[in-house]
Amino acid sequence: MTLRPLDLDPAQCFINGIWQDSSGGETLALTDPSTGAALCQIARASAEDVDQAVRAGADALRGPWGRATAAERGRVLYRMGQLVLENSDHLAELEARDVGKPLKQARADVTALARYMEFYAGAADKLHGSTIPYLDGYTVYALREPHGVTGHIVPWNYPMQIIGRSVGAALATGNAAVLKPAEEACLTALAFAELARRAGLPAGALNVVPGLGSEAGAALTAHPGVNHISFTGSVGVGRLVQQSAGQNLVPVTLELGGKSPQIVFDDANVDAALPFLVNAGIQNAGQTCSASSRILVQRGVYDQVLARMAARYAQLRVGPAVDDLDVGPLISERQKAVVEGFLAQGSDLEVAARASLAQNLPTGGAYVQPTLFADVPQAHPLARDEVFGPVQVVMAFEDEAEALALANGTGYGLVASVWTSDGARQMRMAKALRAGQVFINNYGAGGGVELPFGGTGLSGHGREKGFEALYGFSTLKTVAALHG
Ligand code: NAD
Repeated sequence: MTLRPLDLDPAQCFINGIWQDSSGGETLALTDPSTGAALCQIARASAEDVDQAVRAGADALRGPWGRATAAERGRVLYRMGQLVLENSDHLAELEARDVGKPLKQARADVTALARYMEFYAGAADKLHGSTIPYLDGYTVYALREPHGVTGHIVPWNYPMQIIGRSVGAALATGNAAVLKPAEEACLTALAFAELARRAGLPAGALNVVPGLGSEAGAALTAHPGVNHISFTGSVGVGRLVQQSAGQNLVPVTLELGGKSPQIVFDDANVDAALPFLVNAGIQNAGQTCSASSRILVQRGVYDQVLARMAARYAQLRVGPAVDDLDVGPLISERQKAVVEGFLAQGSDLEVAARASLAQNLPTGGAYVQPTLFADVPQAHPLARDEVFGPVQVVMAFEDEAEALALANGTGYGLVASVWTSDGARQMRMAKALRAGQVFINNYGAGGGVELPFGGTGLSGHGREKGFEALYGFSTLKTVAALHG
């Protein structure tokens, strides 16, 4: 069955408010990760299409979109959020089928997308400049202005959430956006563009150019008409994006991967921690930048935590997205091969638990068994590298100093959490952990549209989400008037 986002032809680009074939008429196949069957064709945008999209963005900034007041921008973003909610069943089905994530997770992503639009709708007219006391006879003020045309390169794991946080903030601040969704999953990006059109977003304010990273993505990052780039994806491509943007000297936000720890001290409420310890590792089949793939446990509760996590693994149900179980397939056979490579590297380790696969899974689906490893040494690749699959390692520590050394002992720094009832330790750990977000006695804080998010080190730089994103998607102009 061909999936049609909002009854559109999915094999088209959205440029200047119009659905159109790619310049060469070429397309790419999308596959259903749950079954391996073909879903539909999508457009394979070329450098020429990207050029048209960037020009459409620049035109929009000279036209009605550029002249819209902050309040008007907020109003149209709010309407987009309302249309997202009105079409939530359809969007959830698209995301579930396209990404392979269980329906309940896809529904949560729809809600998050709507929340991003509501949040940035409300924030659009609250980003103010400032006045600066200066020399006698001067009045000085600083204006917040959009960068201009912003490029948004998005991965396949959470298309709706990442579009919401990145495109939502860029539009709220008055930029015109060119979105390059991932070639593995882009149907909700297309649906989002159509909803934006129906909500009255002026032509050219949002353009979507699906296609290959090495073609459409590379063309977007190299385009001299792009004034800011927001990239979410792997470390390797992040490096390429930053180099390419460096040629044009435009600012880049990099939201990359992670190897995020949860640290469980002897005095933790283990009952409260347990669901978070496992869910944060297996949500979206572990294909989450902020997945918690390392569980560091103090010696006194180590055996208990390991045994209880293993018991939860034994209960996990793995199956097709539409069956809405605990874990779906990986995005592709290619990602499955990557994860199986990591599992093979763990052949010398103790396997604490492996969730079993259902007998009747579709043979073409990219399924792997969620796996929990115990007593993993810090130097092992499974304790150091991002797997991007449902694989967690449990490691023991003696004291706070060792916990910190382990937690900060990878090149990544995205998120971390601390489970302890000792208030002073909570504060010490939060201060010393190398991460863009630290959670105390929870993990993820429910997604947190309002909470600034981003990494350090290999996890990238710049912040999206929350009000903070509005600073990243705008630039400051200082005006100094000498009037005597
Ligand atoms: P990827 O880097 O392969 O692809 C991401 C996007 O970049 C895709 O749209 C792709 O088409 C595009 N791309 C590929 N090559 C390009 C090039 N040369 N120039 C420009 N664009 C190019 O990443 P992936 O495998 O799709 O996603 C997984 C990675 O993303 C993981 O490392 C994960 O941790 C990370 N991620 C991070 C966050 C975050 O917010 N920090 C969120 C989700 C995913």
